[in-house]
Amino acid sequence: MITSRTKLLCIIGNPVGHSVSPQMHNAAFKSMGLDFSYVSFSVNNLADAMKGVRALGIRGGNVTIPYKTSVMQYMDECDGLSTGMNAVNTFVNDKGALKGFNTDGLGAVKTLEDEGVRIKGEKVAIVGAGGASKSISYVIAGKKPREIVILNRTQEKAEPIRKAVEKFGVKARALELSRKNLKTELSDSGILINTTPVGMHPGANETPVGEEFLHKNMAVMDVIFNPLETRLLREAGKKGAVAINGVGMLVNQGVLAFEIWTGKKPDAELMKEAAMESLAIHEK
Ligand code: NAP
Repeated sequence: MITSRTKLLCIIGNPVGHSVSPQMHNAAFKSMGLDFSYVSFSVNNLADAMKGVRALGIRGGNVTIPYKTSVMQYMDECDGLSTGMNAVNTFVNDKGALKGFNTDGLGAVKTLEDEGVRIKGEKVAIVGAGGASKSISYVIAGKKPREIVILNRTQEKAEPIRKAVEKFGVKARALELSRKNLKTELSDSGILINTTPVGMHPGANETPVGEEFLHKNMAVMDVIFNPLETRLLREAGKKGAVAINGVGMLVNQGVLAFEIWTGKKPDAELMKEAAMESLAIHEK
């Protein structure tokens, strides 16, 4: 029940109508009897919205497209990971001091680890060079892979990620997303991660990587969760590869944010069920 003591959390972005974070977090608050409530705000003016966060004493929240970088100027402090990525997806308001974090890449890597995928010593191919790619590449780099290859439609956009990854002492290359490069680079990659929206509803017949480049000695993760099984994952499964959808990343980034706001560990399975239920509603 919402009371006069209820602490408010929110997602700030535009659009936010597709977000399942409210359902995911509110289900966990309810099950744990925590007096928190999570709502979504479609924001046109970020400066005003962040003033509102302070003025209303909102406890914290998530930040999504297009504000993950621009929101940083309204933080009093950002942790090392979000500063390195230049993107914040989670913030907490501690008595008026706003602190930013980024849990996206951590959530993705936790998902890989939960699925038993070993990163250390592996060659990792990451398709795409936007926000999701950046956050995942950073965290993967800290896990000592043999090499990271970033393949992007616009090759030069992959270059800053390559440079950042190399600072971790990991060999990295930034390449154009071409058939020739996919053929060469995927043949000895142990992990492939799609971070582009290619294959997402309503373009579910598309794939960023042709079936011919997939093989059974790789784990394939798609950050897309709508549909749950993208064409890429379906074809990876047919080849005998481990196929991992984007729900794990979605839930795990939420679990980490929940811990930042409440200091408590939520039931990840319950959050996943709430997310899946909400996704099913959104897909209708
Ligand atoms: P973004 O910053 O806009 O980056 C999109 C990337 O995809 C860019 O590298 C872009 O290439 C590439 N791309 C877009 N359309 C393409 C096409 N038709 N062919 C080839 N490449 C294409 O987006 P983002 O924030 O990284 O998000 C990307 C995806 O991740 C979205 O589907 C989002 O829903 C998903 N996501 C999932 C989670 C989760 O929790 N599972 C979390 C965050 C994001 P160019 O550089 O050439 O434009």
